[in-house]
Amino acid sequence: MDLIDEFRNRDLCETLLAHIHSEALHNFTIMEVCGGHTMALHRFGIPALLPSTIHLLSGPGCPVCVTGRGFIDQAIELAMHNNISVCTYGDLLRVPGSLTTLEKARAAGASIEIIYSPLQCLEFARENPAMKFVFLGIGFETTAPASAVTLVKAAEERIDNFYLLSAHKVMPPAMAAIIHAGVKVDGYLCPGHVSTITGTNMYEPLVIDFKVGCVIAGFEPLDLLQSILMLVRQFNGAEPRVEIQYTRAVKPEGNPKAQQIMNQVFEPCDAWWRGLGVLNNSGMQLRPIYQHMDAVLAFGLNMAEPPDPPGCRCGEVLKGLLKPTQCSLFSKICNPTNPIGACMVSAEGACQSFYKYANH
Ligand code: SF4
Repeated sequence: MDLIDEFRNRDLCETLLAHIHSEALHNFTIMEVCGGHTMALHRFGIPALLPSTIHLLSGPGCPVCVTGRGFIDQAIELAMHNNISVCTYGDLLRVPGSLTTLEKARAAGASIEIIYSPLQCLEFARENPAMKFVFLGIGFETTAPASAVTLVKAAEERIDNFYLLSAHKVMPPAMAAIIHAGVKVDGYLCPGHVSTITGTNMYEPLVIDFKVGCVIAGFEPLDLLQSILMLVRQFNGAEPRVEIQYTRAVKPEGNPKAQQIMNQVFEPCDAWWRGLGVLNNSGMQLRPIYQHMDAVLAFGLNMAEPPDPPGCRCGEVLKGLLKPTQCSLFSKICNPTNPIGACMVSAEGACQSFYKYANH
């Protein structure tokens, strides 16, 4: 039996489900914050297996979904310049900007490279000194350390044609903002990959301030069911706390080396989130010593945020106020081959997960 089979064991899943059904006697709302959890829950059909007392909501944990159209607009504008090339992870390509996508701009001649690591962008910069290269940094604490390592390397090598356009974000301010917005959440399924970097400390204020349970969960069926049972037991015992279910990857202290390099390069800043607006200290901007590589400053970008397309309700979906199927465009006009909003573009977006697994 390989590791994956072990975490998909049917007998153990049924045992956990039996416990959940016998113990979840009161109405209880769980928000999964991570887009990877949204996808996994629906892919494995878990919502349909849970008792009617448990309500699952999807939250703002898909980085592509919370990144604004203004970010895409600015990236496209940069890529249209003769001597600027933009490097991006592939999942940003089809996210709609105000007028077009990076994918369509690329087909129209904009210089856009798809990469798997920011170090590839740095390599391009090293090999092509006459060009300027801008890396689109999106994601949470999972991807920010790789951006930070690349910036340190660029500074050490004095490479002066490499820049970062940062939409990096941290998760807890969004988790707090959702509760402040009046969304009823009794327990959070906390992101597994983010927590491998951060550890548990960043969730403690949520427990203290809002009495909400937090369980850091893995991505296999047994992980998800065990995490849900842990939250149910916290709720039944009126003892909300931070627990790690995903112990094979997450340590309480996280990854100190990755934290150190992130803190060396980035400092907190206010950042815009789709659905939540501007949240204090929820973004990561470059510290002064690295600011010569900040694309916003270097190219004088205007990061104003245009509204979402008419009829698109991604903002409410990301706050857990609306199920994707309640958007009037869902499936009729908006689908993975013709995505109107960001939540339908990303494989981790709630709308695409519902379309692929729950709706069809
Ligand atoms: S179904 Fe499409 S248009 Fe509606 S909220 Fe989701 S992404 Fe936006």
